[in-house]
Amino acid sequence: MIQDGQLLNYVGGIWKRSRASEFLDVRNPATAETMVRVPLSSRDEVDEAVRAAQAAFAGWRRTPPVERIQYLFKLKRLLEEHFDEIARLTTQECGKTLAESRGELQRGLENVEVATGIPSLMMGYNVEDIASGIDEHMLRQPVGVVAAITPFNFPGMIPLWFLPYAIACGNCFILKPSEKVPMTMSRVFEVIDQLGLPPGVLSLVNGAKETVDALLDHPDVRAISFVGSSPVAKYVYGRATANGKRAQCQGGAKNAVVVLPDADMEMATRIIADSSFGCAGQRCLATAVAITVGEARSIFTEQVAHAAATRRVGYGLDPEIEMGPVITPESKQRVESLIGKGVSEGAKVIVDGRAASIPGYERGYFVRPTILDDVDPRGEIARTEIFGPVLSLMHTQTIDEAIDLVNAASFGNMACLFTSSGAAARKFRYEAQAGNIGINIGVAAPMAFFPFSGWKESFFGDMHAQGRDAVEFYTQKKVVVERWPSDWSRKF
Ligand code: NAD
Repeated sequence: MIQDGQLLNYVGGIWKRSRASEFLDVRNPATAETMVRVPLSSRDEVDEAVRAAQAAFAGWRRTPPVERIQYLFKLKRLLEEHFDEIARLTTQECGKTLAESRGELQRGLENVEVATGIPSLMMGYNVEDIASGIDEHMLRQPVGVVAAITPFNFPGMIPLWFLPYAIACGNCFILKPSEKVPMTMSRVFEVIDQLGLPPGVLSLVNGAKETVDALLDHPDVRAISFVGSSPVAKYVYGRATANGKRAQCQGGAKNAVVVLPDADMEMATRIIADSSFGCAGQRCLATAVAITVGEARSIFTEQVAHAAATRRVGYGLDPEIEMGPVITPESKQRVESLIGKGVSEGAKVIVDGRAASIPGYERGYFVRPTILDDVDPRGEIARTEIFGPVLSLMHTQTIDEAIDLVNAASFGNMACLFTSSGAAARKFRYEAQAGNIGINIGVAAPMAFFPFSGWKESFFGDMHAQGRDAVEFYTQKKVVVERWPSDWSRKF
């Protein structure tokens, strides 16, 4: 909800003007126009949201799961009704193409659908007669007030990795969206306001670091879900767990794909180009490095360079556009300087996307697709998450060498192989050290009923987002041992 050009918070079922003293401009990255101002909410405002959530919790946890999920069915219907309008807003604040915005909202909705299965997913288990006449049960109960802190690159989908499961399990949930793209969730919360949920079950608090720290320190917040860059993920995990909270923190990535000579080269090139340059490379499952094996080198390099050079770049609302801008001027500058760093480390720029100017959008933050060839695997550029439309190429002679390069990365979000050999695919799946594996797939994004995995520096915690892991994260197990003798006696 916007009032006087300023986003409001949603606390205790009411839209509230923030008392923040600091605000940031939210800009359309294709046009640089200011869309709205976002407040950086204070500790007091977080405390208000937590108190509203805590007050709602007692009643919400007693609401039967079959009743709780009726709100999710309604949420799905309303989000579908407003689907295009919300997707357009995502493109305007985040820069991705309309097709990409629609795609991410659809992925978000799929999590709402899976969470409607909570009455089954939340079931515990039991054994009768663990000793004569004594039974034992495992029950799942909600953990209480929980919060999620989300990144800029999927304003619609990522909050929905958490929100539906959290409330379906009986928790009360507070969202702190990215301050760079807060409008999509503000609109989604206008939809949520129509659900008739008890006040305090869902709250939205805008802000940045101070707001996050207030959530991490608040004694009544029992669990933190985080998605963002690795340094912040690590910090959030450390501070939340030191304060006795559960935490699941997804971090950054530097994903590699391996291309074998027996791959269907045309398919591999098209899919890898989409993975590297889709969402302007600002996807945690984007391909950042392509490693060719043997004879794959020349044909793959030639074809992927062609795909990069011919990609249509512009404003995501224009229908023929295939790639939008990066998120901020700082991001454009950072991506361009990292390309320069790659060159200084000996890489060759075979397609150069720096200094891009898009007719009609000269003030936008555009970087065109870029390909760096012969990137030094030991160099800084090989290890740094660029988070822009830059594909680095490396070349090896064997699949073993290629897997060694994949596994040398400090991140472990995704690794993919392109091949027509089942044996090679099996070897790769078995040996690659990453949480999400693709075989002839460029963006191995798990469906909502699978966990969104991640290893090494890409994930801090135990339970991942989505599906059964989400249910595990948002419930605590209670084990009950009980005896109901037909005759009460003091003899044991
Ligand atoms: P970011 O880490 O800058 O911000 C993420 C969130 O943390 C935001 O809500 C922000 O307000 C908050 N934040 C930022 N700095 C903070 C600090 N010092 N203390 C406390 N809170 C802070 O990330 P971003 O730039 O918004 O998103 C891009 C990053 O997210 C990339 O690294 C990308 O790989 C990663 N990402 C990972 C996944 C995954 O599933 N692993 C998914 C999407 C994005």
